[in-house]
Formats: sequence, C-alpha cells, structure tokens
Amino acid sequence: MNNLPFGIVAFYVFILGLCIGSFLNVAILRGLSGEDIVFGRSRCPKCQNQLAWYMNIPLVSYIFLRGKCAFCKEHISFQYPLIEFISGLCFLGSFLAFGLTLKFALVCFILSLFIVLSATDFKETVILDYHAYLLAFVAFLYSVFKFSDLTIVQSLLGGIFGFLFFEIFSFASRKLIGFRMFGEGDSLIAIGIGMLFGIKIFLVVAVLSFLIQCVGSIPLLIINSYKQRKIQLSVAYLIVLFSIFLLIILNYIDINNSFYLFFAIFISALLIWALKNILFEIRTKKMILDKNENKENIENPPYCLLPFGPALIFAAFLCLFFLPQIKEFFKIFIS
Ligand SMILES: [Zn+2]
Repeated sequence: MNNLPFGIVAFYVFILGLCIGSFLNVAILRGLSGEDIVFGRSRCPKCQNQLAWYMNIPLVSYIFLRGKCAFCKEHISFQYPLIEFISGLCFLGSFLAFGLTLKFALVCFILSLFIVLSATDFKETVILDYHAYLLAFVAFLYSVFKFSDLTIVQSLLGGIFGFLFFEIFSFASRKLIGFRMFGEGDSLIAIGIGMLFGIKIFLVVAVLSFLIQCVGSIPLLIINSYKQRKIQLSVAYLIVLFSIFLLIILNYIDINNSFYLFFAIFISALLIWALKNILFEIRTKKMILDKNENKENIENPPYCLLPFGPALIFAAFLCLFFLPQIKEFFKIFIS
C-alpha cells in the first residue's frame, strides 16, 4: 500500500464508499420493509424486473440510465445516488483524517450507521432498534480500541447518560405539554453517541443538535404557517430564527455598549412576543388532538416538521471530525 500514490488510494477508498453506499440503500429499504438484507438480487420496485449487474453500478448506472428504470422507464428515487455519494464522501473524509488504519474502518462503520439511521428517520420517521444497538456496539469498540480518550467505564456511563438525557426531556415534556418532545428512537441513538463521546462531549453534541434542528426546521415552519395564512405565526418563527443568527453573529463582532443594551432589550421584547405566539399555536394544536382522542398522534410532536434523529446524528458527525473548532465556537458563548 505504501508504494501506491496517495491519490490512487484515495480514489479507491471513494469507490469503496460508493459500493458500501449501494449496500446501505438496500439496508434502508429492506430494513423498512422487513425483507432480508443480504440475500435476494436487486429488483426495480415498480416492475419487479431483476437488475443486471451493469444497471447496478453505484452512481454510474444512475447517470447513464438518466434516473430511469431500464425496463419500465419509471423514475428511480434520487435517494439511491444521493446515499451512494454521501457514503463515498464519508469514506474519503475518514481516509483523509485517519489513513488506512483500523480507526478508519471503525469510523466508516459508524458513519454508515449514521447514514442508515438518518435515512430511515427522514423517510418514515422510523429508527430501527437493531441499527441503534449496532451503533452502540461499534461505539463501545471504539473506546475499547482506545481511539478516543475515554476509558471503558466512561464510555458506558456516556451511553447511559445519553439515553437518560433524552428520556427525561421526553418524560418532562409529556407531563408539561402532553406529548414527547423526542421519539424513543432518539434516546436509542443517544446511547451510541454517548458511548462514542462520553458525558462531557455528549452535552456539546446535544446542544449543537438543538441548534441544527432549529436552523433546519424553522424555515420550514415559516413556509408552512405562511401557506396556512397564519401570518403572525410565520413572523414569530422568523423572529426566533433571526435571534439565533444574531446571538451567533454578535459574539464575533465588537459593538458599542449602550447600543448593545438598547438592542438586547428590543430583541428580547420581540422574542417574548414570538414565543408567546408559538406557545399559543402549540396549545391550540394540543387541544385539537385532545378533542380527537387520537392517542397515537400525541406521541408525535405536532409542531415539528422534521425528525430530530438526523440533527442529533449530524451534530455527532461534526463533533467526530471538527471537535476543536466546535469547542472554540461554544467557548465564545461561555466566556
Ligand atoms: Zn422498472
């Protein structure tokens, strides 16, 4: 391996990532439908024709078939090339960070599980238990092999803490506003993430994931409430989003003190008005749900348009590769 030029190895690692991505697509679809992952050749989900090997080359086939099935010309979901490409990039990224080592292999395994967990959560807001437990197992191996600074005990404590963290939040929100703030799947993912990072860094991951969830879902909430002609509500969401960006930006620039005070009071007043509106919306929705006596629906937060799992996983991904930069980012808020 040492004789091969770096670029060529990197290219092959990317190709390997594409192929694994192709397998991950199968794991996602058959995981959701309950089919066997390993056996059975790939078929077109529409016409059930078996695919020849040359119709099944990651990324390449999708481009040459122009996103259509060779038999029935049905559009092939963009999920296939997207997952393959993301997987290729993840493999390439961990090769650039860790070289061809055992750590590289474990990180690739973890990232593959991240991809599968996010995809099933995005597609059907489902997190399969065995995906989450597998993540916990690989995360545990990660500290057994000393790839993190954690002892085995710290890793185990991190897993327990991660689980309890989201369960307690969910329990409290169920008592206070009537529905779980996070799904049960989120608590299961948190076991693996807690084991990977330990208690301290897990808290960083959790805060970062809240931030990602806000920035990711608030634009959708704005559009959604605007479409429903709830203009006041969409303005309220806009103010929350604006305040988050402001909080981040203000920490990077120096401004005059008395102006800052005036500004802070003004923004706080706006924010209180906005939160009052949003809380009113949540209460109204809860009342509608209670009237329907549809207990199934109460499990799902009625105010959220995106599942939380992918945000949690994306935060963990960022901390896996960019922990020093993220610590620096949060230090600004603390000092
Ligand atoms: Zn077809």
